[in-house]
Amino acid sequence: MSINKTTAETAGQPHSTILIIGGGAAGMAAAIAARRSAKASGQSCSITILERNARPGTKIRISGGGKCNVTHSGTPAELLEQGFLRRNEARFLRHAFYSFSNSDLLALLILRGVETEARPDGKVFPLSGDAATVARAFEELLRESMVQQHYSCLVRRVERKGELFVVTTADGAFTADCLILATGGVSWSKIGTTGDGLAFARELGHTITKPSAALAPLYTIKAPPASLSGLALRAISLVATAGGRSLERRGDLLFTHRGFSGPVALSLSRDIAELMGEQGNCTLYADLFPEQSSAELEDELLRQARRSGAQMVRKFLQACPIAPHKGSFCVALQGTLPTALVPFIMRHAGLENDVTWSGLAREKRQSLLSVLKRFSLGDVRDVPLDLGEISAGGVSLAEVNPKTLCSRVVPNLYFCGELLDYAGEIGGFNLQAAFSTGWMAGVNAARGS
Ligand SMILES: Cc1cc2nc3c(=O)[nH]c(=O)nc-3n(C[C@H](O)[C@H](O)[C@H](O)COP(=O)(O)OP(=O)(O)OC[C@H]3O[C@@H](n4cnc5c(N)ncnc54)[C@H](O)[C@@H]3O)c2cc1C
Repeated sequence: MSINKTTAETAGQPHSTILIIGGGAAGMAAAIAARRSAKASGQSCSITILERNARPGTKIRISGGGKCNVTHSGTPAELLEQGFLRRNEARFLRHAFYSFSNSDLLALLILRGVETEARPDGKVFPLSGDAATVARAFEELLRESMVQQHYSCLVRRVERKGELFVVTTADGAFTADCLILATGGVSWSKIGTTGDGLAFARELGHTITKPSAALAPLYTIKAPPASLSGLALRAISLVATAGGRSLERRGDLLFTHRGFSGPVALSLSRDIAELMGEQGNCTLYADLFPEQSSAELEDELLRQARRSGAQMVRKFLQACPIAPHKGSFCVALQGTLPTALVPFIMRHAGLENDVTWSGLAREKRQSLLSVLKRFSLGDVRDVPLDLGEISAGGVSLAEVNPKTLCSRVVPNLYFCGELLDYAGEIGGFNLQAAFSTGWMAGVNAARGS
């Protein structure tokens, strides 16, 4: 790639072959990959990274509750299948996940002394249990890659002037032949992700899908009772309904003092935010026995009533498993309904506290059944965008070549990481997507494709 394209207007400004805005997972991977690619092809290439925070990798350091769920185990195809529920997003990311896979990432980390372990659920963490070890490994790789690094450097504007990019920061302007935007999403704005890159991309002519919440908690109009805050429901089905439409997902739900969190709430939050955008409101329910149909659950309740007529329904519910697998109802004692929830189930069903199976009238049994299958969790007030682990929306995928991550609109402009219009599930998929797309953008920017 030619370097000397500086015009009279931009003379005197520091010039780079490749300039990267954003020093998160994607930006760092892009810089390291660009250097390796340039070196492999014998090119001289100046690479600069501009980051508004005082150091790179701020989000990596807070990820996974400070433990950093850095990726997920499995083949690239499995990661795409489990991590990206929307088919077009998985299709777009396919090339990047194969170009720089989870194995490539882990190999890079191990060379920097960061050992990792995969948990039984597939999530991969550094053995140190410390996210900073991952961030530090990338910092070291950046240093070795002879990348010019500018921290506490807020980019204010990006323009295309002739064949150059002119990037204006609080400390002056930079020019570049090739620009990589890696500014992340729009959540957690307090640590630097305020969506600036989306404005830059729009100014350069790109279409932006409006950012919306994802992997975010659900706030309800009426907060759950304080006594339930912190309570977890295992392997339930969370159902959200609005305007005749219904969304459903299976997993663990956590009561909070403002509503709900936990994997299933976070996972469904993107769809709920969209549904609320269309319909204005949304009601939540939990199917506490998702493995049983209503008819099967009723049969079980009837059997229990015949078997133990003198048993208090309340006692039964306290000892009753939540039936993680079909057929295990009341057999295994793991996964019971939390004791603290039982008084609420009894109250919602209109049952007396000391009612026994033999004293339970048919309509009360029906009422209990419908509460167990459709436990009301209230109406959603908000899915707070800023509190999401990620944000959905971003640079439209249709305008980016998935094989190079180069813009289809502006030559020599590349995108990577969360600012692209994809959103992964919890499990290490988002960091892997940032590293994979960053790597791919870096390699291709250096090739000048
Ligand atoms: C609390 C939390 C926990 C998470 N845990 C996990 C997890 O365990 N596993 C997982 O896979 N994912 C996790 N994620 C998501 C994951 O961290 C992100 O998806 C990923 O870091 C995105 O990488 P990125 O490089 O695209 O963006 P970022 O890491 O957000 O980096 C973008 C960088 O650009 C900089 N920037 C933005 N605008 C400007 C500007 N104008 N000038 C200069 N610099 C700018 C920002 O300061 C930022 O450093 C978590 C997210 C959060 C918030």
